[in-house]
Amino acid sequence: MPDIKIMLSEEEIPKAWYNIQADLPKPLPPVLHPATKKPIGPDDLAPIFPMGLILQEVSQERWIEIPSEVREVYKIWRPTPLVRAIRWEKQLRTPAKIYYKWEGVSPPGSHKPNTAVAQVFYNKAEGVRRITTETGAGQWGSALAFACNLFGVECKVYMVRVSYEQKPYRRVLMETWGAKCVASPSEDTQAGRSILAKDPDSPGSLGIAISEAVEDAATHDDTKYSLGSVLNHVLLHQTVIGLETLKQFERVGEYPDVVIGCVGGGSNFAGLALPFVRDKIVEGKKTRIIAVEPTACPSMTKGLYRYDFGDTACMTPLLKMFTLGHDFMPAPIHAGGLRYHGMAPIVCHLYALGLIEAVAYHQNPVFEAAVSFARAEGFIPAPETAHAIRAAMDEALRCRESGEAKVIVFNASGHGHFDLGAYEKYLRGQLEDYEYPEEKVRETLSRLPVVEE
Ligand SMILES: *Cc1c(COP(=O)(O)O)cnc(C)c1O
Repeated sequence: MPDIKIMLSEEEIPKAWYNIQADLPKPLPPVLHPATKKPIGPDDLAPIFPMGLILQEVSQERWIEIPSEVREVYKIWRPTPLVRAIRWEKQLRTPAKIYYKWEGVSPPGSHKPNTAVAQVFYNKAEGVRRITTETGAGQWGSALAFACNLFGVECKVYMVRVSYEQKPYRRVLMETWGAKCVASPSEDTQAGRSILAKDPDSPGSLGIAISEAVEDAATHDDTKYSLGSVLNHVLLHQTVIGLETLKQFERVGEYPDVVIGCVGGGSNFAGLALPFVRDKIVEGKKTRIIAVEPTACPSMTKGLYRYDFGDTACMTPLLKMFTLGHDFMPAPIHAGGLRYHGMAPIVCHLYALGLIEAVAYHQNPVFEAAVSFARAEGFIPAPETAHAIRAAMDEALRCRESGEAKVIVFNASGHGHFDLGAYEKYLRGQLEDYEYPEEKVRETLSRLPVVEE
């Protein structure tokens, strides 16, 4: 029997993050100011982000040293295991070798603290006392609350009101780690008050919560804002995932043929994939690298590659990305972390260059794969992660047909212990698949900001 878990020692936690910008065959399109439509500079972002992170956002350095304070915190749960899903392979009767990089072992239960810890460190280093953010179902809010607590920084989370009321457990996680969590729209900001004046029962939205968190940071000298995905520095921090995975494959003398991750804003996918993309660009490797999204929110497979706002409220700079339109309202699928209208500019750039692929799945086949995985491997994956699992399963089933013994690896971005309501619905046959609303998307896309290129 081969080893099930390929482990590294704490000493082998990477000492530097990998910055793909140094190796891109074509530079990233610039980020534009929403009013002037001209490229923005570091100073434009200074009111809401610390300079350490702004410089990482635009850095062209290939390797960026991970501060020892951040590595010390990573040691709580890193290096994470690379696991061979040997029981699942047997159950699927596939000759493929399936591996997963298990990020669900972090205290908040996902990959998100890889960047939360780094972001809080750079804020603290510049004297920031308080950090604000928004959260939907609470995965990002709880990761930031966890990190802020470790560095003694205050954390204020604006949580979309429907989730605040319907999914109290992640809120309790945040409060246990000492964060202040309010339902958004709130009375605490101008943006929140003006919405409540018009609609006292507003269920809130991610766009509204972003507006509140940004306003809070911009109007308090000791406060900055933090974002959990999409931006270059977030993807940079997540590369610890792929760098460890490369080392783990080296240990067992393998190299993956297929690399898979689910995409919401693109950070966990990129975290695993970017070091493998480097090997494609620099060493000419032929690895297939696949981003998996929900059919209900198909930014890459159905969106347009255009400049758009990062938020629903049209406050952020313009990012060139595959987008469904900033006011696209995705159906209420259970993979809350994948309901984002756009996608990380780095991921989009790689897709446009043909270095990565994208596929989309409905939530019933996704949960079918999650249950198949859980019954073989034991772990119950997050609904987001289950998208990657579905793609890995299809790849393994194709190997069963063709007889190929491909090596497949996917990012197991988090556990599903707070998502058992969704599993319950699936097991009772009550999950709906949402058809892609072609009409609606065409309509929202017609409202994209006009940018001459
Ligand atoms: C937030 C989240 C995602 C989606 O976000 P990305 O930035 O695309 O990684 C995926 N899986 C889990 C478990 C998450 O918490």
